[in-house]
Amino acid sequence: MTTSTTAAYRLTEEQVLLRETVRALAEERIAPRAAEIDRSGDFPWDIKELLAAHDVLGLGFPEAHGGVGGDLLTVCLAIEEIARACVTSSLILAVQELGSLPIRLAGSDDQRARWLPDLAAGRSLIAFALTEAGAGSDPAATRTRATRDGAEYVLDGSKRFITHGGIADLVTVFAVTDPDATRHRTLSCFVVERGTPGFSAGRLEHKMGIRGSPTAELLFDGVRLPAENRVGDEGEGFAIAMRTFERSRPGIAAQAVGLAQGALDVAARYASERLQFGKPIGELQMVQALLADMDAATEAARALTYAACRAVDAGAADAGRWAAVAKLVAGDAAMRVTTDAVQVLGGYGFLEEFPVERMMRDAKITQLYEGTQQIQRLVVARSLLRRFRPPGG
Ligand SMILES: Cc1cc2nc3c(=O)[nH]c(=O)nc-3n(C[C@H](O)[C@H](O)[C@H](O)COP(=O)(O)OP(=O)(O)OC[C@H]3O[C@@H](n4cnc5c(N)ncnc54)[C@H](O)[C@@H]3O)c2cc1C
Repeated sequence: MTTSTTAAYRLTEEQVLLRETVRALAEERIAPRAAEIDRSGDFPWDIKELLAAHDVLGLGFPEAHGGVGGDLLTVCLAIEEIARACVTSSLILAVQELGSLPIRLAGSDDQRARWLPDLAAGRSLIAFALTEAGAGSDPAATRTRATRDGAEYVLDGSKRFITHGGIADLVTVFAVTDPDATRHRTLSCFVVERGTPGFSAGRLEHKMGIRGSPTAELLFDGVRLPAENRVGDEGEGFAIAMRTFERSRPGIAAQAVGLAQGALDVAARYASERLQFGKPIGELQMVQALLADMDAATEAARALTYAACRAVDAGAADAGRWAAVAKLVAGDAAMRVTTDAVQVLGGYGFLEEFPVERMMRDAKITQLYEGTQQIQRLVVARSLLRRFRPPGG
């Protein structure tokens, strides 16, 4: 696989080397932990240290702040390889990106110098808090308020479903600063540091998949923040969140591609070993058809994901559309490929003894977070229709 995908995707030497390094780490150190992480539901601090020690968490951070300065495709190659072994572990990198992107995209020089070096080195973790109980697909329904009080803001409200919310040292939080502003100008973005009085993590969710990734409720009760913790201008929060998603959704697509590849690998190996009717099931044409469709779907999702990374890196005017189509296609591919992998393994696919049942449970989340598949379709359709809008329309 290495040779053909390298040739087909025109990766640079550095990207090939990075992918091989992360693949080796994933196969030797992460894959053997995946089932236990899923079973215990404990956050894998050892894997976080492993990724930090190999500079994987700093891949997308600027060199000026201690990062590697890799492009989006480089980050996504790493996410893909980790997800092939363990989706929970791939989220450590994906969420470090998600949470820090607002600072990287819209933060001041002082904010970058203050927070990015520790994040790039993996000395601290960051979460991204947009969703609320009543504001999921529609961030304009956000209720958490940030009220200006002299040189400070006072935050009140709560967030729900926040990955790494209870363990992160920093959280980028989106809150309403002007409820009377037009729909997409109500929100501003803030960085809240752990230990700030009034800020706490509430309950943890019990989930179908990515069980080692803590998903927390966050509570803000009169949290006082210096105005220097506001990222970007007042009213820019929605735009910052959308620019963040342009760079983070390809990461979820990469997670889905890795997951699909991992499931396909297990299924293909099993099909060549499992004997029924006196021969390996891989020689049965209906099983071959399943495997062929799984392979085709995985490669198609990979090609689109890498193309999306390149489009976003090149500053494409329709970067949001690229990010959305990649997540849409890859998420659906991961769901289908992992489900078919269970089918190839028959009854054994349904057992915890094989990793495909975990992969199938983990795949579902790629169709839900960072915007559901329906929301990706909205983004794609709006971008498409904009192109055909009559002048002045
Ligand atoms: C494990 C996990 C981790 C998460 N991590 C984070 C995180 O770190 N940070 C964060 O901010 N959020 C996070 N989320 C939240 C996630 O992004 C939201 O769950 C998601 O955006 C959907 O919101 P909702 O669950 O409120 O669903 P709803 O918005 O209530 O949607 C319910 C259904 O209606 C559909 N729907 C909604 N609006 C439309 C529309 N306009 N057109 C068509 N269909 C529509 C949806 O597609 C869905 O099928 C996480 C969620 C989970 C489950």
